[in-house]
Amino acid sequence: MAEPELMDKLVSLCKRRGFVFQSSEIYGGTGSVWDYGPLGVELQRNVKDAWWRAMVHERDDIEGLDAAILMHPRVWEASGHVAGFSDPLVDCRACKARFRADQIHDVPCPQKPSMHPGEHTACDLTEPRQFNLMFKTFMGAVEEDASVVYLRPETAQGSYVNFLNVLNSTRQRIPFGIAQIGKAFRNEITPGNFIFRTREFEQMEMQFFVEPGSDDEWFEYWKAKRMEWLLSLGIGEENLRFQEHGPDELAHYAKAAVDIQYRFPFGWQEFEGVHNRTDFDLRRHQEYSGRKLEYVDPMDREKRFVPFVVETAIGVGRTVLVALADAYTEEEIGGEKRVVMKLHPRLAPVKAAVLPLVKKDGMPELAERLHQTLRDAGVPSFHDDSGSIGRRYRRQDEAGTPFALTVDGQSMEDGTVTVRERDTLRQERIGVEHVVPWIRERIQGT
Ligand code: ATP
Repeated sequence: MAEPELMDKLVSLCKRRGFVFQSSEIYGGTGSVWDYGPLGVELQRNVKDAWWRAMVHERDDIEGLDAAILMHPRVWEASGHVAGFSDPLVDCRACKARFRADQIHDVPCPQKPSMHPGEHTACDLTEPRQFNLMFKTFMGAVEEDASVVYLRPETAQGSYVNFLNVLNSTRQRIPFGIAQIGKAFRNEITPGNFIFRTREFEQMEMQFFVEPGSDDEWFEYWKAKRMEWLLSLGIGEENLRFQEHGPDELAHYAKAAVDIQYRFPFGWQEFEGVHNRTDFDLRRHQEYSGRKLEYVDPMDREKRFVPFVVETAIGVGRTVLVALADAYTEEEIGGEKRVVMKLHPRLAPVKAAVLPLVKKDGMPELAERLHQTLRDAGVPSFHDDSGSIGRRYRRQDEAGTPFALTVDGQSMEDGTVTVRERDTLRQERIGVEHVVPWIRERIQGT
């Protein structure tokens, strides 16, 4: 399958099944903003829950935080975003299209036909200008410069300004981390590729505060940990790779940085970064706020330092796209084509479909009871009794539901149901009372 075609198929499946819709679609859509539908919101929550569990609940050395989107405007001066968070922008004088100077190559201009029919000469580009990517708004009733605030372009700064609050309200000692999941906004100039690059998105970021000198080691540690996590979600190893930043590509605050890239249908692209941000941010906040942001060793009060930070930063939407692209499979089973989303059971929006074979002989009632049992146990399930069993299976395959439980004639006699596994199509009969532990074991196992 040609790769662009795969992207089109994925976008259309996402709309058809209710994973992702274009924002404000009935008005023609909003540029690069997307809404998550009934299945998409579950997938997104499962991604976030898996991250939170791995980063916060399973560790003693990381604390959670939920800082506000709106922050004091000085934060963004200190962080360098007001002065430096910009992309070079060029405009075409003829067609008025706008591009990122670092991404554009000769683009045919629709306003400039060439001598050859049907062809166009290149856009006539202006010199690059810097365009700040932060969204600005006003706080309070008066729209004036003094009340300008920004929608945060990253969650990280909320963790830095709360470094002492978290330290003093917990019993943490360095090294320790602060994890956050939250919205961020960037007025991207050339957004696109579905949910890959959007103007409103969610990030899962963790700032790990370490003693200077131990930062290189922690950087390697987090690089390995993050890759381990992605593999535990069933993402294909052959589609993942590290990409180190060369010295010219490092952000102003970073000593070392590595991207984790995925082989998307449109090529290898970053979806997670691990950064050694040094003590840059804390030092700048010290300078701009006038408050000391030092760590004092409780065992040796003479020992004090501004910690270094190793950050892991990953986008929720991009991870959802990774999971979707990795799961999308077309295959032929017994001469019939099927599209199946092979999502890891932990990420799948619905874990089990309960399907009465026919709508009579007590089967729908037993199915409804089983559906309720699953619901009570906290296992998201779906009861579907409409259409042929084959069509119902196919619908669940496209939704990525890993297990289908069919209630048939034998179920009425001996209290067993048939479990069909989405990927292998293996079927086995199990007692109704064993269904919950059977599914739980498969969701939790990797
Ligand atoms: P890019 O080079 O793609 O713009 P970045 O290097 O600026 O990304 P970071 O600032 O390191 O990205 O942000 C961390 C993560 O946040 C990215 O790896 C990505 O998953 C996510 N992210 C950043 N910008 C966007 C965006 N516009 N839309 C969706 N996700 C984003």
